[in-house]
Amino acid sequence: MTIQRPDLLRWLASCGATAVLMLLLGLGLTHVLDLYARPRPEPVPLWEGAPAVRDVRVLLASGAERIRLRADREVPVRDGQDRPLGSFSAAEWSIVQFDPTGGLRCGDELWDAGAVTLTAQAGHWVWVSIERSGQWSVGIACPGRLTVEPDGTGQRLRVTNALDLETYTACVVAGEVWPDFHREAYRVQAIAARTFAWYQMLRRASSPYDVTSTEAAQVYQGLRFDATGRAATLATRATRGVVCTYLAGDTPAVFPTYYSAACGGVTQSANVFGEAAPLPVLGGGVPCDYCSIAPGETYRWGAVSMPLADVEQRLCAREPDLERLRPLAAVEAATRDEAGRLLRIRLTATAGQTYEMDAERFRLALGARVVRSAFCDIQMDTGVVTFANGRGFGHGVGLCQWGMEGQARTGKRAGDILRYYYPGTILRRLY
Ligand SMILES: [Zn+2]
Repeated sequence: MTIQRPDLLRWLASCGATAVLMLLLGLGLTHVLDLYARPRPEPVPLWEGAPAVRDVRVLLASGAERIRLRADREVPVRDGQDRPLGSFSAAEWSIVQFDPTGGLRCGDELWDAGAVTLTAQAGHWVWVSIERSGQWSVGIACPGRLTVEPDGTGQRLRVTNALDLETYTACVVAGEVWPDFHREAYRVQAIAARTFAWYQMLRRASSPYDVTSTEAAQVYQGLRFDATGRAATLATRATRGVVCTYLAGDTPAVFPTYYSAACGGVTQSANVFGEAAPLPVLGGGVPCDYCSIAPGETYRWGAVSMPLADVEQRLCAREPDLERLRPLAAVEAATRDEAGRLLRIRLTATAGQTYEMDAERFRLALGARVVRSAFCDIQMDTGVVTFANGRGFGHGVGLCQWGMEGQARTGKRAGDILRYYYPGTILRRLY
């Protein structure tokens, strides 16, 4: 029997692990699964104070006035005390918002509770769309449990999606990789994404959520039903439970596996995030030209000019207390790291006072896609600021995503790639 590859992938995605293994052995494709068999990473002891593995809680929206839900199958609805309120199914979008009675109104129905949970059956999901500035976001398919409740102000809605760590990991991989990345790069991304989530789950156990759904944490866009989603699921299965750890004394500990699109030549230390003494695994300074394969203005980017008045406006929109420096007279580099990446920016007001800020914070205020990295030069000329000789895309800390793809194409394995970008990393299994 001849099986074409796309058909094989589709078939694998719908099969159990045993059937997949039997098929792979039959086809002589055991290399798909042998990555973590030799040697199998040791389980990480769930150290004192750490919660057992539980669902990861993803913040989908906070401060929303309305959300929309859709579900093809009946989904049980329960209140905050887990008491049944009925069930929900709707072929068309139903709008959920606060009702004057204090409950939540969903279409024609009134849920007599301030907070509700909707739990999809295994293998199913609820479609969710959020209203932002009068526009509805594209609906995403959320498996697991959805919670709609008042946010911190009590006036608006907060929506979180709790789902198992493996499904979440596959969703993040699909949202973070380029579709035609190498299979091994998918696996690197799966381990990094799982580790980042696990780290946040340990730190944020008493918070209402563990991670946000944007690039500020990791991109989560629910389930993906295309080829990228299937490849992400396979990579997640092949690395099930594997996380990056380092040895803190004799104890394995997990760390935040930061990653960004392209380092531009050398990685950045995590002290860019205010960590005074970053762990050796996040110390930066790792040379990487593997990301030079990235298309467009990713590895190198052309000069970007912006009137000083625009720089001022964008900075003050993000950080209102900088109003005191208006009007600005100059923007310049204050400090750089050894590789030449900007660390601190000095702002000088026309009135004479100066202020220094982190270059990464400065860059994000101007626009993460406008000034693509802090690995650049700043030039001032007659009221115009120019960012030139740009290198890389993103903060540059930890794993370089285009670098992992470049290394995967040379035949490197996922574990070796992770140890390259996070020196000293030991792969272990959580379960
Ligand atoms: Zn790189």
